[in-house]
Amino acid sequence: MRLIRRGERSNAVQDLQARLERLGIDIAPQELGGDFGPATEMAVRAFQQSRGLDVDGIVGDNTWRVLVESSWSLGDRILRLEEPNLRGDDVRDLQSRLNALGFAAGKHDGIYGRATAAALMDFQRNLGISDDGLIGLETLKAFRRLRLVTRTGLGPRTREREARRSGPPGVAGKRLVLDPGHGGDDPGGRGPSGETEADLVFPLATQLAGRLEAEGAEVTLTRGPHDGPTDSERARRANEAAADLLISLHLNAHPNEMAQGAATYYWEHGGIASEPGEHLADLLQDHLVRCGLVDCRSHGKAYPILRETRMPAVVVEPGFITNPDEAKMLSAPRTAEPIVLAMVRAVGTYFGVAGPAIS
Ligand SMILES: [Zn+2]
Repeated sequence: MRLIRRGERSNAVQDLQARLERLGIDIAPQELGGDFGPATEMAVRAFQQSRGLDVDGIVGDNTWRVLVESSWSLGDRILRLEEPNLRGDDVRDLQSRLNALGFAAGKHDGIYGRATAAALMDFQRNLGISDDGLIGLETLKAFRRLRLVTRTGLGPRTREREARRSGPPGVAGKRLVLDPGHGGDDPGGRGPSGETEADLVFPLATQLAGRLEAEGAEVTLTRGPHDGPTDSERARRANEAAADLLISLHLNAHPNEMAQGAATYYWEHGGIASEPGEHLADLLQDHLVRCGLVDCRSHGKAYPILRETRMPAVVVEPGFITNPDEAKMLSAPRTAEPIVLAMVRAVGTYFGVAGPAIS
């Protein structure tokens, strides 16, 4: 290509300036619109310097090629194995994300070669996303909300950040989705007096919704008292509500009626977990145990309601429906109240409130 240099005024210069600005390199306003003056030359030099190119302030083949590669952001185009290999900052970004999550994508050279393609497909398989090696919306979102479970060094500080990331602290103004499990043709577990899981968790969810709404949250339920949508349908509703988090309420069951206690579940599969999900599950577990329930711990699971929801999501089982005492306690609003308040406190803590005042 011909050289683009100082003194030129053309559409090519205008294109050059637009590309530099998209990379965050400012051009003085008097030169914008295609005038290659001293400010544009300085911008070209800054770009060349940042990319390890010869710094001459002149745009030739090499500088132009690298500039074009730099313009790609992850998600802008379809990445696939091609000859010659695709190059760009989107590929570099992909490589560093895959490597950070423990998928060996090779060095961060910005070249979409075999190692990078294989690492991406491995990542997609582990997440249950279709392993087509293409970066769809689902894959992009997965990158945003995942971390490697075994990378303990990333622990508490990252969690704090996640929990506090969006908006002012507190439950007020947050969009919460409560998902009473089962319903319709699906009764779920059955208790000693014939009560069903579907019938017990629904009033529990409305009680919890009432308490959260009193704190200023906007609460949506995934079902009514009698219907029983599929988990995918529930997840879709939560996604459409653009919820900040989802809590799915279920009850545990065991052939032995002595079995008792609370358990929580967050999304985990193939060594990767939802970090905010795990954080929320831990908080709920902690607060439930503090009100006297036996600690059946929090667990990583690949349940569809956890996988298909785009917001942090947890399944909570605040007791065993097969345990006569727990079934009775959870059946009446008055005796279930401490459990509900424990969950409200956990959600408050998740959104960055140390101890919401609840009477
Ligand atoms: Zn259930």
